[in-house]
Amino acid sequence: MNDPFGRTIDYLRISVTDRCNLRCIYCMPSEGVSPTRFKEILSYEEIIRIARIASSLGVRKVRITGGEPLARKNITYLISSLKGIKGIDNISLTTNGVLLEKYADEIAQAGLNRVNVSLDSLKPDRYAEITRGGDVNVVLRGIERAEKAGLAPVKINMVAIRGFNDNEIEAFAKITLEKPYQVRFIEFMPFGAKEIWKPEKYIPANEIKSIAEKIAPLTPVRLRKSGPARYFRFEGAPGVVGFINAISHQFCDECNRLRLTADGKLRPCLFSETEIDLKTPIRSSASDSEIERLIKLAIEIKPASHDITCEGKFHSLRPMSKIGG
Ligand code: SAM
Ligand code: SF4
Repeated sequence: MNDPFGRTIDYLRISVTDRCNLRCIYCMPSEGVSPTRFKEILSYEEIIRIARIASSLGVRKVRITGGEPLARKNITYLISSLKGIKGIDNISLTTNGVLLEKYADEIAQAGLNRVNVSLDSLKPDRYAEITRGGDVNVVLRGIERAEKAGLAPVKINMVAIRGFNDNEIEAFAKITLEKPYQVRFIEFMPFGAKEIWKPEKYIPANEIKSIAEKIAPLTPVRLRKSGPARYFRFEGAPGVVGFINAISHQFCDECNRLRLTADGKLRPCLFSETEIDLKTPIRSSASDSEIERLIKLAIEIKPASHDITCEGKFHSLRPMSKIGG
């Protein structure tokens, strides 16, 4: 289905939980984020129903996210059920990778196509600091396992923060010289943890790219499904480097997605608090056509673009763990 700006909406991001087994300093405020009570979270059956109706409206691609999606019990059931929905041809998952070593084989067998792993430092101490206690080696083993399980191409997402992990940009880019991964740099966005955000910590994607190019020139590559990322390759490298310029070059013109929060709200835009409640009608025996009407409404009110800038203001939006990144 097309929105009023001619964009084809065929991608649904589904958050299955707002709980997480890490506490990344830029994502969660130090006081934590109070988790939604389990009964207020959509059940798998409710999610599957929404996905089925969305697929009848043209959704072809689904990403499972959170919070930490692998921390929700029996996620393989959801994956295999989504896989069985006619029309959905691509299922991916965004994870912090902590449980990937344990679950990579199972989720691949359940029909998952790919994983995105969030990893902001390769240094054990710094990783532990960013995540408030995580072990980077567990994540690195998880990435290897995902590759072996065929969840390819593995994507590694790194949020670059000035004065914090920007001196690892080259090390991350170098991974692509050895591995067929997509290493993607994401601009730090002004929401989540207020005490961490400062405009001077934001690094625009073009600056991140020039740091990576200290290794060697990067040549643009066109990937079949590049989404909001722009991709480049070092000559002869098996992997590619990507940049997700959420703030500096708005990718709104090509935005093809809706987000479903764990508590059942359909969100037309990451950067807008406008949400359509699907949980209440679903739990009040709404018909499929009523849910379909609400999904269409979300598509109709999708804004042309967001107005978030990096100039300074922190935005008190729901943190990513509560939206589904
Ligand atoms: N827990 C999973 C993970 O970390 O991949 C999935 C959910 S997490 C909210 C999704 C993504 O949001 C992560 O890649 C994280 O780095 C990103 N994120 C969270 N807060 C952010 C912020 N303020 N700026 C940029 N990216 C952010
Ligand atoms: Fe958890 Fe992901 Fe947020 Fe880190 S970025 S706290 S792993 S939800």
